[in-house]
Amino acid sequence: MTALNTESVQTVLAEIKDPECGRPITQCKQVHELAVDGNTINAKIGLTSFAAPIKADFEQSIRDLIGSKFSGATLNLEITEHQRAPLPLGQVGLTAKAVIAVGSGKGGVGKSTVSTSLALGLKRAGCKVGLMDADVYGPSIPQLTGVRGGVSKEGEKIKPNEFDGMPIMSIGFMVPADKAVIWRGPMLHSAITTFVRDTAWGELDYLIIDMPPGTGDVALSLSQMLPLTGSVVVCTPQEVALIDAVKAVGMFREVKIPVVGMVENMSTFVCPDTGKSYDIFGKGGAKQYAAEAKIPFLGEIPINIGVRERGDEGKTAGNFDDPTVAPYLEAMAHKLVTTLAQRAAESPQQQAQLPVLG
Ligand code: ADP
Repeated sequence: MTALNTESVQTVLAEIKDPECGRPITQCKQVHELAVDGNTINAKIGLTSFAAPIKADFEQSIRDLIGSKFSGATLNLEITEHQRAPLPLGQVGLTAKAVIAVGSGKGGVGKSTVSTSLALGLKRAGCKVGLMDADVYGPSIPQLTGVRGGVSKEGEKIKPNEFDGMPIMSIGFMVPADKAVIWRGPMLHSAITTFVRDTAWGELDYLIIDMPPGTGDVALSLSQMLPLTGSVVVCTPQEVALIDAVKAVGMFREVKIPVVGMVENMSTFVCPDTGKSYDIFGKGGAKQYAAEAKIPFLGEIPINIGVRERGDEGKTAGNFDDPTVAPYLEAMAHKLVTTLAQRAAESPQQQAQLPVLG
C-alpha cells in the first residue's frame, strides 16, 4: 500500500491523461489544488471545455485510480475548468482544437442532420463549437436550423450567423436557395477559403463541417488549407448505402483525412403507437463494416417522424428535447470525444503546442 501524502497522490495522478492533448494532467498543470489531510484527499483538477462531454468519465477514472491506490481514503474531488487556447491551424489562421468533416457516399442519408446534431451535442455538453455547411451542391443547414439570411461583416471578416449560441456559416446564406450554382474548381476553392479564413469563428474547440456527399473536391481543398482532425461517415443500414459509405471512407483516406467515426442513421423505427420496432432499412451493416474497417462506431440514430418534422420546420435543435432521439444524439457526441481522447493518448500533442493561460 502506497503512503498517503501529496507527493504520492501527485505521482499516481500522473497516470491520468488529459483527453484533449493526451499528456499526463500533472505535466499540463491541471492539478489546480491538491491537499492531503489525514485520510482525506482534497483535489481540484482542471479539464478543458474540449473534453466537457466526457467529464463524468474523466472524474470516474480519477476516482477509480485513487480508490485502487489508496484504499480507504476519502476523495473530495472537484473538476474545474482548465483554460487552454486553441492554436491557429494551417495557413488560414482558424483557431480550433479539432476540425471534423462529416461526409457520406450519397445525399439524403441524414449527413446534415448528423452534422447539426453533433455540433449541438458537443455545444450542449459545454464545448465551444462552430458549424460550417460546405455542402455547396445542396446546402441544407439553413433549412434544418431555421437560420436564414445574409451574413454581415465584422471588420475585415465575415460575421457568421448564430444558431443555438453557435456560429454557423452556409453557402446557403450567400446563394439564393432556388438558384442552381455550377461550381468550378477555383470558385469552389475560393468559397471554402472564405469560410475557413475570412470568417470570424472565434476560438473553437470543434469546427464541424458538413461536406458535400460523394465527391472529394471540397475535402481536398480543405485538407490543403488546414489539418483536419478527422472525418465522420454517415450511412443508412441498407446494403446499397453501405457501398456508398465505403466509397466515402476511401475518399477521405485518399485525401489523408483519418476516418474517426461512422454513424448509422435511419436505424430501427419504433412505432409511436405500438412501441414495436421495425428495421425498415435493415440493421447492423454499418456497425459490422466499421468493425471490419477498424473505424470507431459512433452509434445509430433511429428513423423517427419527429426528426423529419423538426428538420422540415427548421427546429432540429428540438431533437434534444425528444427522449426518443436525444440519448442517441448525446451518445454520438460522447463517443466522438472518447475516440479523439483515445487517439490523443496514443499520440500525445507536443508540449510546445500547449499554451497554458492564466
Ligand atoms: P443529407 O445531408 O444526407 O442529404 P439530411 O440531413 O438533409 O440528409 O436529411 C435528409 C432528410 O431526412 C431530411 O428531411 C431530414 O429531416 C430527414 N432525416 C434525417 N435523419 C432522419 C432520421 N433519423 N429520422 C427521420 N428523418 C430523418
